[in-house]
Amino acid sequence: MSGQALYRRWRSQTFDEIVAQEHVTRTLQNALRAGRVAHAYLFTGPRGTGKTSTARILAKAANCLAEPAERPCNRCARCQAVSEGRDLDLIEIDAASNRGIDEIRELRDKIAFAPNEGRYKVYVVDEVHMLTTEAFNALLKTLEEPPSHVIFVLATTEPQRIPATILSRCQRFDFRRVPLAGLCGKLERICQVEGIGVQPGVLEAIARRASGSFRDAESLLDQLAAYGDAEITLERVQELLGGVSAQAVADLVDAWLAADLGAGLHQINALVDGGTDARQLHLEMIEYLRSLLVLQAGGDGALAGASPEALVRMRSQLAGLGLGRLVEGLRILSQSEPVARGDVRPQLPLELAFAQAALVGTARDEARPAAPAAAPAAAPARRAESPTRPAAAAAVGGRPRRGDAPRPDAVAQSAPAPVAAGSAPSLERLKERWPEVLQALRARSRTLEAVLRSGRPCEVAGGRVVLQMEATFHRDRVMEEKNRQLLQDVLASFLGAPCQVECVLAGQRKPAAGGEHPIVYEDPMVRHAVQELGAKVAGIEPDDEAKTGTE
Ligand SMILES: [Zn+2]
Repeated sequence: MSGQALYRRWRSQTFDEIVAQEHVTRTLQNALRAGRVAHAYLFTGPRGTGKTSTARILAKAANCLAEPAERPCNRCARCQAVSEGRDLDLIEIDAASNRGIDEIRELRDKIAFAPNEGRYKVYVVDEVHMLTTEAFNALLKTLEEPPSHVIFVLATTEPQRIPATILSRCQRFDFRRVPLAGLCGKLERICQVEGIGVQPGVLEAIARRASGSFRDAESLLDQLAAYGDAEITLERVQELLGGVSAQAVADLVDAWLAADLGAGLHQINALVDGGTDARQLHLEMIEYLRSLLVLQAGGDGALAGASPEALVRMRSQLAGLGLGRLVEGLRILSQSEPVARGDVRPQLPLELAFAQAALVGTARDEARPAAPAAAPAAAPARRAESPTRPAAAAAVGGRPRRGDAPRPDAVAQSAPAPVAAGSAPSLERLKERWPEVLQALRARSRTLEAVLRSGRPCEVAGGRVVLQMEATFHRDRVMEEKNRQLLQDVLASFLGAPCQVECVLAGQRKPAAGGEHPIVYEDPMVRHAVQELGAKVAGIEPDDEAKTGTE
């Protein structure tokens, strides 16, 4: 192999070689053939997706000496000058390196001069969002009235940072992240031509890490090839990528599925102690759950970005996993901060997220009252020296006595028949089936179920379910956002429609929350009228309040 980096050597030379951006290349080719080249283009998209390669191909095509349909021909003097980086009519400016002040000034001074040899002068401004305001203003002046022999290509990964005045003068093309298959395909061709031997799974692992960027994928392959092994092994890849094996992530997901906090925290700590980058592990876990979600939604292995071997395991994991729990787990993991602040252990964010995700939809939430959802994981993470087995065991303390709870997936898959399919849900029907509601809740949170045993539904109307609770403490537990959401989920499946849960206290005149409906529940007669006969309390006269309450 020559000394030149792979991604330079394998830079696309024709529009057809640009992978996964047909929506861009086809439009450009059509414009070139029709002789309708715009004077300013904006290429946006993630790094390594072909923006600057496409800009160079456009520059070639604009000045190519071949027939319009064949441009760029890659054979003529103009094409070759561009390929070899010595074309004087292609001016590349990297706005990131010095914010472009001098270059843009020079550009403005020289732009009026005719091209050296070609038909067009092509200015490519890479990372254009990095320009200073001054440079943007200078650029804008030239964009307002560009000479007919000038083509601008502005490239950026952050289009939202481009001033609207610039945007409005450009024809915009959005480059997409390259799909896994596209990356793998090109890596495979490179390996064949360059004579690089790879074990099965290696290219996929590289492509996954590159997440849609050719430049990153080819750089990684370059690094791996530089080891000089006869064949690049998966082990070598994992060593380079921070040691997160697909196997390890799948094992961690198994622990999550089993809601086995002890096993999960043990695995996380063993991996991090063994040199795995905690942040990468966190991201891999998110990526894995995302793949599960794609599969669950009917996507194939390619869309999920999974190898055939990984697919088999993923499908078996999905068999025991409800969609709700998967979505919630993914949400928690992706919303948690992947970088720990300060001097806490680097794996703490992942541990916290794992613990929260493991608690979702399981019967294993804390029996202690008022414990924040994330508290169990914080404890083991703070124990400095021996974070694995003992701490993990502490975190799941009390699990055995809850061992009789049904598997969460069993619950998720057996949704109850709605209370009143097709008709308005009534209080009567909900009361009848209240024990079933509690039973369904019990599978998801024993604590909440226990709290709700002291309550009962007292109103169902207009998408609201009002519960009457005996004690402030119980009411407050139910109204905690997490619990309220959980209850609303369960109730929605019984009612066949989403609902808002509110609580009133048995001994109180006004609802505890959302209190726009004063209901006099302590009066047996009023209570009977409201609850049994479906009466509505239209209002309470202040003067009569004492009487109403006591008589
Ligand atoms: Zn040519």
